[in-house]
Amino acid sequence: MAKEELECSFCGRKKPETNLLIAGLDAHICDRCIEQAHGIVLEESKQSDSSDLSAELKLRKPKQIKDFLDEYIIGQNVTKKVMSVAVYNHYKRLLQPVTKDDIEIQKSNIMMVGQTGTGKTLMAKTIAKMLNVPLAIVDATVLTEAGYVGEDVESILTRLLQAADYNLEKAEKGIVFIDEIDKIARKSDNPSITRDVSGEGVQQALLKLLEGTVVNVPPKGGRKHPDQKFIEVNTENILFIAGGAFDGIDRVISKRLNMQAVGYSASMSDDVVDQDHLLQYIIPKDLKDFGLIPEIIGRLPVLTYMDPLDAETLRAILTEPKNAIIKQYKKLFTMDEIEFSITDGALDFIVGKAIEYKLGARGLRSLCEEILTDAMFELPTSKESKLNVTKAYAEEKLTKTTLKKLKAVS
Ligand code: ADP
Repeated sequence: MAKEELECSFCGRKKPETNLLIAGLDAHICDRCIEQAHGIVLEESKQSDSSDLSAELKLRKPKQIKDFLDEYIIGQNVTKKVMSVAVYNHYKRLLQPVTKDDIEIQKSNIMMVGQTGTGKTLMAKTIAKMLNVPLAIVDATVLTEAGYVGEDVESILTRLLQAADYNLEKAEKGIVFIDEIDKIARKSDNPSITRDVSGEGVQQALLKLLEGTVVNVPPKGGRKHPDQKFIEVNTENILFIAGGAFDGIDRVISKRLNMQAVGYSASMSDDVVDQDHLLQYIIPKDLKDFGLIPEIIGRLPVLTYMDPLDAETLRAILTEPKNAIIKQYKKLFTMDEIEFSITDGALDFIVGKAIEYKLGARGLRSLCEEILTDAMFELPTSKESKLNVTKAYAEEKLTKTTLKKLKAVS
């Protein structure tokens, strides 16, 4: 074929009519057709993304969602159950076909109350992992009203966009975990006396995001890039999970229960109140008494609580989850062909120290790190092919000073 007769095998344009004509084995394609084909590929992959989600939900009913959570998280059965249903309903709502029956399924944003280190973040992370949706974890304490020093509430969505690699469609189906939501509570029950305007202002700003709205989001965040183009993010299908320790809320709950007990003495005395685990009785009103505005509480309609971690749970966290800490060390040592084992006595000792020094689940990892660092440093270049960590070995590595150091950083 003479050179000037070359043409696009797809649209038939002659070479001079194109900007670029790429040759294949027996065919040619022009720049316009490449762009069109690229568009089709993108469209197709978007569709398969959303069908991923529906396949995931077809595959996993609430019970299976809980089974998945069980693989990674120890205990917390009430929250796992509540979360499984809420997440299932949320994504069902998202996948619902447009119908004419006017029944609009409302969002099931979630509020988790529980001490720090009990697995709230882990719960959000595991859900996001299961659904393969982007997750942004934000700390409510850094949020301020627009115009104040700190981060605007919109920065939450910047994080989500980043987590989604700037794929807007993915971000709009993602999960946002807002940690320390209790820190933006109004400091007093009585707004007219000690009104904490900034806390309440942040709550007001959050409201809009939670209820579903289109927000102009600076993709790079912050005010350092004033000339960046905004991206419009619709928060309608984003699942918000809020978490907080709500220190002192047990007093609020206890007070309410006692008042009820006075009012309905007969009915309450039938129910024995478990004074050590008051969180299980939490109701939305307690959050209001703590200082959250009713509108925020209304936008986080699924309320659940996390149990404090006892010795048994901490022990299980060390060894049982799919990526349990001990399993990770075993893998690390195996890579150096070292057989790693640890005795029950040593595990109990670690748990004991975590409790004694109030290090919680987060401390388990630092404790193991302190105990094993010497071995991880020396063994790869030694002739040893085995490491058995006993209680005596652990005791020797964990001096009082190291423990104090861990306590200070926790
Ligand atoms: P929170 O968000 O409530 O402060 P995290 O989810 O960050 O707590 O938990 C801290 C660490 O403790 C995590 O690394 C997690 O691996 C571990 N952890 C906490 N609770 C559990 C649990 N119930 N099961 C397994 N691991 C847990």
